[in-house]
Amino acid sequence: MTSEGPDGRLRRYHAQVMAELLALSLIRDVPDFPLPGIMFKDVTPVLGSPEAFAEVCHLLAADAKAKGAEAIVGIESRGFIFGVPVALELGIPFVMARKLGKLPYDKISEEYALEYGTNTVEMHVDALHDGQKAYIVDDLLATGGTAAAAVRLIERLKGEVCGFGCLIELSFLQGRENLLGYPITALIEI
Ligand code: AMP
Repeated sequence: MTSEGPDGRLRRYHAQVMAELLALSLIRDVPDFPLPGIMFKDVTPVLGSPEAFAEVCHLLAADAKAKGAEAIVGIESRGFIFGVPVALELGIPFVMARKLGKLPYDKISEEYALEYGTNTVEMHVDALHDGQKAYIVDDLLATGGTAAAAVRLIERLKGEVCGFGCLIELSFLQGRENLLGYPITALIEI
């Protein structure tokens, strides 16, 4: 029998939790969307299952709570879908990180590179207060460019990023490298 360190036990535990997650079998691979060569992870079947959807939101809420979150920052648009139930469950504010030109009031912007193309994300100048602990929610972590832009927005507003939570991490894209020093939780690692 080989002995296994705490890292190995943690990996095994995570693999077991992941295997039991209802959402795992519901995520649909759509090849060549929105561009050739991209394998799009479609979460709409997860949203179509109230049990699977609720499980994802409860797990992200538990993680955000453990990180001491005082606000949830959802990244448009699928980060809104998963982030809003988390904020409501914890009874904390929900903040929108929106795509360019969508927010009506005074805002700050950050540009980022996506797995496909570039984009800009914006937040209202009064979205967070000094030192407020913000937990970022999105559906998927790919290169980490989007999440890193959200981190920059939060820090420019003097908020404190206490974590990032998502349903899926495409670990081969090494998005964590763009978020060094920030706690990342992905319910499913691919
Ligand atoms: P990134 O900035 O590269 O980490 O990209 C993450 C953002 O782009 C998330 O908001 C995802 O919704 C979206 N995204 C990137 N790649 C994919 C993919 N292969 N399948 C589904 N969504 C993706």
